Amino acid sequence: MKVYKFGGASVGSAAGVENLREIVAGALEGGLLVVVSAMGKTTNALEKVTAAFIDGRTDEALEALSVSERFHREICEGLFGPAGGGGAMPCGAQALFDELRKVIAESTPDPSRYDYWYDRIVSYGELASTTIVAEYLAASGIDARWLDIRKCFITDNRHRDANIDLAVSGKLLREVADRVYGNAVTAVPPHHNKVIITQGFIGSTADGQTTTLGREGSDYSAAVAANILDAESLTIWKDVAGVLNADPKFFRGTRLIPEMDYLDAIELAYSGAQVIHPKTIKPLRSKEIPLYVRPFLDTAEPGSLISAGAGALTGMPVLILKKNQVLISVRPNDFSFVLEDKLPDIFELMRRYNIRMNLIQSSAVNLSLCVDEGRQLESFGKALRGHDFRVVYNSGLELLTIRGYDDRAFEKHTAGPGIYLVQKTRRIVRIVRKQTPPDTFLEI
Ligand code: ASP
Ligand code: MG
Repeated sequence: MKVYKFGGASVGSAAGVENLREIVAGALEGGLLVVVSAMGKTTNALEKVTAAFIDGRTDEALEALSVSERFHREICEGLFGPAGGGGAMPCGAQALFDELRKVIAESTPDPSRYDYWYDRIVSYGELASTTIVAEYLAASGIDARWLDIRKCFITDNRHRDANIDLAVSGKLLREVADRVYGNAVTAVPPHHNKVIITQGFIGSTADGQTTTLGREGSDYSAAVAANILDAESLTIWKDVAGVLNADPKFFRGTRLIPEMDYLDAIELAYSGAQVIHPKTIKPLRSKEIPLYVRPFLDTAEPGSLISAGAGALTGMPVLILKKNQVLISVRPNDFSFVLEDKLPDIFELMRRYNIRMNLIQSSAVNLSLCVDEGRQLESFGKALRGHDFRVVYNSGLELLTIRGYDDRAFEKHTAGPGIYLVQKTRRIVRIVRKQTPPDTFLEI
C-alpha cells in the first residue's frame, strides 16, 4: 500500500479537492492511506479563534470561527451543490462547526491551559477538511473510509508538541488497516481499491485529550503512518514542483533537485527548507521507504525522489534562507572559559526557555548563538544575566546556509557589509547577515 499527503494549499478550494480526487482515483490499487491537512489557511484562522477565546473575547472568537465556517461552506457548496435549509453546509463538517461553536460559547477559558485549548480548538481544521474530502470521494464513487486518527495515534500530553507512542499507535493503526485493506497473514480477505482518509497533525493522549504535533506536522503524521504500515512509498503533494535548490519566494533561478538521499534531505529540512518537515525523514529512513515530493497541479511531472539509493547531492548549490534571526553573544562576567566551564549552564537555560539554536560559534570567553526570533528570548536573556553572563543581542538578521557551495556562490553571498558571522566547512557555508529587505529576490 501507499501513503499520500495533501497539504492545506492543495485542498484550499473546491477545485483543489476535485484535483485530489483525480490523483487518488488513479492510485487505489493495493490500498491507499491519505493524510490531509486543514484547508487553506485554516490553522492560522483557528489559532486566532483560540487566542480570542483564551483572552475572554468570546464574541470575537465566535466571529472568527464564523469566517472559517463560511470558507468551508463555500468549498462544500462547490463540491456538493447549494446549502440546505438554514444555510447549513451540505456535508458532515457542519456538525463539527456546530460542536466547536458550542464548546467556545459554553466553556470558561483558563489561560494557564493555553496549549490544551489550542489543541482542542485548532484540531477541528483537520477534522473538517478530512470529513469534506472523505464525503466527496464517497459521493463520487470511491470507497473512502474516514478515520479519526486520534483513535490510533496515541501521544504524550505535551500539548502543541506531542510525541507519538509508536508501539501503541502502530498496533492500533495496523488493526484498522487490516480491517480496511485485508491482510493475508491474519486471514482477513484482501479488499481492493479502498482508501482511508485521515488527519495529519493531530493525535490523542491515552485518556482521550486531543493533542497536536507542532505546526506543519502533517508530513510527520504521514511518515509515521507509512512506517507503521510498511508502505511502499510516501508521496507529499505540494504546490511547488518538488524540492528545489532554493525557495522561489526568495530566490530567482531555482532548480528542481530530482533525487537525493535521506541524509541530504534531513539536513536540508533541518536548515529550514520549508518543503518538508524535518521530523518526516527519520520514520522513512528506518524502513527505507522512498519519499516522493510532487506538484499536485502537474501530475505528469515526477517531482523529487528521496530514497536510500540516491547518490549524494552534487553539482548544484542548495541555498536555505532562514529569516527573522537573532544573534546572541554570551560571555561569562568572570572571564571563565565559555566552552569548558559554562556550556552546560547555557544549554540548560536554552532547554528551559525552549530556545532552538540554529548555529553556534565560540571563542575563549564568548559564545555566539543564532536563534529564531521569539517571545521567550527576553526571559532567556534575563535568566542568563541572572547567572552572571553578559548578553548582547543583534536582531533583524537572516541565516543563509549553502550546501555544496562553489567559489562563486561563496564570494557572492559573503561580500559586502552587513555580514555578522561566516562559518565554513568543505561542503557547507553558513552566513549570518542583515536581513534582505522584503520583496527583494536574491540570485543563486
Ligand atoms: N494544518 C497544520 C498546519 O498548518 C498542519 C500541517 O499543515 O501540516 O500547521
Ligand atoms: Mg497546513
